[in-house]
This record gives sequence, structure tokens and C-alpha cells, in this order.
Amino acid sequence: MIERRSVLVTGGAGFLGSHLCDRLLAAGHDVICLDNFFTGTKRNIEHLLGQPRFELLRHDVTFPLYVEVDEIYNLACPASPIHYQHDPVQTTKTSVHGAINMLGLAKRLRCRILQASTSEVYGDPSVHPQREDYWGNVNPIGPRSCYDEGKRCAETLFFDYFRQHRLDIKVARIFNTYGPRMHPNDGRVVSNFIVQALRGEPITLYGDGKQTRSFCYVDDLIDGLIRLMGSDSGFTGPVNLGSEGEFTIRHLAETIVAMVGSPSRIEFRSLPQDDPKQRRPDIGLAREQLGWQPRVPLESGLSNTIAYFRELLG
Ligand code: NAD
Ligand code: UDP
Ligand code: UDP
Repeated sequence: MIERRSVLVTGGAGFLGSHLCDRLLAAGHDVICLDNFFTGTKRNIEHLLGQPRFELLRHDVTFPLYVEVDEIYNLACPASPIHYQHDPVQTTKTSVHGAINMLGLAKRLRCRILQASTSEVYGDPSVHPQREDYWGNVNPIGPRSCYDEGKRCAETLFFDYFRQHRLDIKVARIFNTYGPRMHPNDGRVVSNFIVQALRGEPITLYGDGKQTRSFCYVDDLIDGLIRLMGSDSGFTGPVNLGSEGEFTIRHLAETIVAMVGSPSRIEFRSLPQDDPKQRRPDIGLAREQLGWQPRVPLESGLSNTIAYFRELLG
């Protein structure tokens, strides 16, 4: 039988956070879902609102928080370029002050804390695929820096609390993840292309479309986060979580258009500044330490995601 724990999920009304709340409740835990609803929405968690083991807390992680829990997943942070560049100062504050407050909370409670870090800590990588020991190639003063450097500083704080206060930390470097409950207007490529294809609008392909990404389905990613939280206390990470299937963005556009059966045509747009040319995780460490690897093939993940957006757009 699994031990029942009280778990705090910051950013719990967001895309990943809401799926994590679902899985934790299904496993029998009590969940406090904290969110300031900047990019998250009540729709993502409304099916949980009546459950006695689920509690919703409107709160901003840049302010101190006093609750009693056994575990913390720190996911609060806008994740798409459109949203994190909307108020870049707030983005850095969310990553940095948010990390300090949640680490302070974990320190008082002596509880385990997991940070949702990102492949963006590698920037526009000069090493491929990316392993955890690669230090990255990040512009400190560009439009993506508020997110990239904020997340890097949060990792620094996690490891300083680990060294200085012997805190039980876990750091996941999450690569591009997609699935139902992605925000329809946050500009991320999978949601953009699906929404455009469903509406018969032009597919906006940035640059020549030869840049690559690897896309992990949300169920696989959540499985990785839960395994990491449950891993031996000697294992802190950082550990890459993502898919090894690397595709060009053009291939993604063509696949989505074909799967939707859409009349949409591809339109080329200029490439945003500092857009990474290629990205794929080396997940050897996750395989070895967590026994984890993604299982859902791109086509079935896309098919679930297309079905979600079809319903959402009515
Ligand atoms: P999301 O925008 O859907 O979720 C983030 C949530 O955090 C939202 O519900 C938002 O309202 C909340 N939030 C933002 N600022 C807050 C604040 N100051 N206080 C409280 N809540 C706040 O994004 P997501 O894709 O679910 O990402 C979740 C986490 O995973 C983020 O930390 C993100 O950086 C990380 N991540 C996601 C991906 C991905 O591909 N989805 C990749 C790498 C890392
Ligand atoms: N903090 C919090 N909840 C707690 C304990 C601390 O939000 O239960 C915040 C508090 O605002 C503090 C921060 O976490 O500023 C860092 O806490 P820590 O104990 O590491 O540092 P200190 O209080 O000494 O500055
Ligand atoms: N992209 C695109 N068209 C869009 C949205 C994104 O061609 O409508 C490209 C973008 O330039 C990038 C890739 O798709 O090369 C992934 O973009 P996303 O914002 O989803 O994630 P990230 O750049 O953070 O990996």
C-alpha cells in the first residue's frame, strides 16, 4: 500500500501542474494546488474542485507561504515565450523569489522539494544531444533571458540549499512537452499548429523550419516527475526528462496538417531571436536512475491533443 502524503503543487492549475494533481490524487495523496492564474486556468482543475483531498489556493509564489505539507513540486512559472516575455521582470521574480520562498518552506518543514527546470538552461546548445553535464550556451541579456537565467538561478538556489542546508532536492530539466490542456494562445508550436490546422488558418512556420525539437507526451513527463520525486535521497539530479525522437519543425507542421485533414497551407515567418537550432535530450541518466523513458509515440500523443483542441474550439 502506498503511503498517503500531503503534496503541494505550485503552478497546479497550469498545463503540467493540472496533470500532476490528477495523478497524485489518483495515487491516494492529498493535494494543495497553488496558482495565481497568470497562465493557468480553473478549467484545468475544475473536475477536481469537489474532491475532499483536493484544495485550491490562489497565491503568488513570489510571496512567502506558510502551509504544512510532506512534499513540494515547484512548477509555478509561465513557460511559453509569449507569456514569459509579457512581463519579464515578473518572470525572473517568479523563478528566483518563488524558488527562495518554496525552498524556505521546504527547509522549515524538512520536506523533499522538486524543481521544474527546463532544457532552456542549455540555451542554444553547442553540444548535441544535451547531457546534464553540459553547462549551456545562454544569452544573459536577450528576450529569452528572463526565463532561461531565472531557471538557471533557481537551479543554483536549489543546489545551494542542498549544500548549505542539506535540503532533500530534486531537479528535473524538462524538454518540450505537449498534450491536452496546453494553452491555446500561448504560442507554443504544437498548440499553435493544431489550432491553426483545425481553423483552416495558415500554419506559421518560423525560419526555414529545419530547426529541431523533441516532443514528449504529458503522461510520460508526469510519470518521470513522480519517479524523480520518489527516487533515492542521494539522487538530486539535475536529470533530463524528454523525448529522444527528434524532428524538424517542418515535419511537425506537415504531420499535424495531415492528421487533422486540414486545408491549411504552410506560411514562412521570420525566426524569433535566440531561437535554438536543435534540441534533444540525452536521457541516459533518467533511464539509469529512474528506470524512465517516454512510451507514447508522437502520432498517438498528437491524436489525443488534436481531440482535446477540437472539443475546446467547439
Ligand atoms: P503553464 O503556464 O501552463 O503553467 C504554469 C503555471 O504557473 C500556471 O498555472 C500559472 O498560472 C502559474 N504561475 C505563474 N506564475 C506564478 C506565480 N508567480 N505564482 C503562482 N503561480 C504562478 O506551463 P507548463 O507548461 O505547465 O509549465 C509548468 C512548469 O514546467 C514551468 O515551471 C515550466 O517552466 C516547466 N517546463 C515546462 C515545459 C513544457 O514543455 N511544458 C518545458 C520545460 C519546463
Ligand atoms: N519562507 C516561506 N515559508 C516558510 C519559511 C520560509 O515562505 O515556511 C520564505 C521566507 O519568506 C524566507 C524564504 O522562504 O524569506 C527563505 O527562507 P530561509 O529560511 O531559507 O531564509 P531566511 O528566512 O533566513 O531569509
Ligand atoms: N515555432 C514555429 N511556429 C510557431 C511556433 C513556434 O515555427 O507558430 C517554432 C519555434 O520557432 C521553435 C519551435 O517551433 O523553433 C518550438 O517553439 P516553442 O515556442 O514551442 O518552444 P521552444 O522554442 O521553447 O522550444
